Amino acid sequence: ESYLARIQQTEPHIRSFLHISNSVIKEAEELDRKIERNEELGPLAGVFVGVKDNICTANMPSTGGSKVLEGYRPPFDATAVRRVKECGGIIVGKTNLDEFGMGSTTEGSAFQVTANPWDVSRVPGGSSGGSAAAVSAGQCVVSLGSDTGGSVRQPASFCGVVGIKPTYGRVSRYGLMAYASSLDAIGCFGSSVVDTGILLHAISGHDQLDATTSKREVPDFTSQCTSASFFESKPLKGLRVGVIRETLDDGVDGAIKSSIYEAAAHLEELGCNVTEVSLPSFSLGLPAYYILALSESSSNLSRYDGIRYGNQIGADELNSLYGDSRAKGFGSEVKLRILMGTYALSAGYYDAYYKRAQQVRTLIQRSFKDALDKNDILISPAAPSTAYSIGEKKNDPLAMYAGDIMTVNVNLAGLPALVLPCGVVEGGSNGLPVGLQIIGAAFDEAKLLKVGHIFE
Ligand code: GLN
Repeated sequence: ESYLARIQQTEPHIRSFLHISNSVIKEAEELDRKIERNEELGPLAGVFVGVKDNICTANMPSTGGSKVLEGYRPPFDATAVRRVKECGGIIVGKTNLDEFGMGSTTEGSAFQVTANPWDVSRVPGGSSGGSAAAVSAGQCVVSLGSDTGGSVRQPASFCGVVGIKPTYGRVSRYGLMAYASSLDAIGCFGSSVVDTGILLHAISGHDQLDATTSKREVPDFTSQCTSASFFESKPLKGLRVGVIRETLDDGVDGAIKSSIYEAAAHLEELGCNVTEVSLPSFSLGLPAYYILALSESSSNLSRYDGIRYGNQIGADELNSLYGDSRAKGFGSEVKLRILMGTYALSAGYYDAYYKRAQQVRTLIQRSFKDALDKNDILISPAAPSTAYSIGEKKNDPLAMYAGDIMTVNVNLAGLPALVLPCGVVEGGSNGLPVGLQIIGAAFDEAKLLKVGHIFE
């Protein structure tokens, strides 16, 4: 009830949710009965979980932030949602996003603009802005988002919460609306590293319904953090930390650089071996990402034909049914991306764009491998700026894309990365949070969470 009251009080100015469940009290009462009956409770028993609206939930709308899916109620739960429920979590509602995850501000939602709880005149980041704002505003305990090029990490940074993007293949994508299938990952938000790790643990692991999930065992990511002797045991002694040089160049706000250097100094005090490391192909990540993500999206979004799901517009004749449903259903950013992706994949341009971007992707994977052979973790800012004003980049898509520079390389390499608040700098009415990004080798989520927990 206290969470519902909090939602009622904050939602008019934050607008995190596209849909709020009407069964949470009933589910909580069911949990009370379980407690009375002394039944075993799951690790998320009674925990309020927000779910990004591009992740399918049975009996709740799932729109992907798009008019093309208005009114769509999937007949099934995404695997991640099913696992949250099996662990006792209560799905409080569906959170706002840029249409199909395409954007960095949440202004690209077809339905509403979400505000940043630190300063309501600013964006919460995106595309999982609703999930980040909901945790930041205390509307739910943890939430699920998706991260194709930074959509969990950048909003976590803008809203001053913790966000993790797991290794590609750690969490099932079954029931996640595909944006760019080779990059998409479901990730988690929380107000602490441990909360975030517990949610990630609940949703991780092999799934028969997603052939790209790994069969590796899922360790208890946070058991070390919660042991009583964690801080005394000097858990970071000798850890090799690489500060990525290219992420701290002239394009980054001075105050952000200072916060990252302070975090590096703190790690050094704790016994880490901190050095600077170079990722030579770093700056190629952004163009390669936008070619690959848009190419994949142009193919993935062809399923929205007005027949199989959601909104059907115009029905006289088959071709106009497809055409009208897509023309009226998709927003302008989505159409722009479908056009660019289709162009990059077309005969005659494929070699120049798509194939070349795949080659760059291999270079990026190799340079991460080199850096992570010499270091246990890499650190960088999560974004080149703090949260900017609503409307500031709305008509300048290139400026918005440029803001993804810190995060897209990690998706191209399929690696896990954690973002956590590492300082507050001047700006807005109450100061604005800065996010530290910690990148690790594939399947090394536990290490990232251990390092992150040191900062709490
Ligand atoms: N901002 C990036 C994009 O628009 C990343 C989005 C995401 O991770 N879903 O593609």
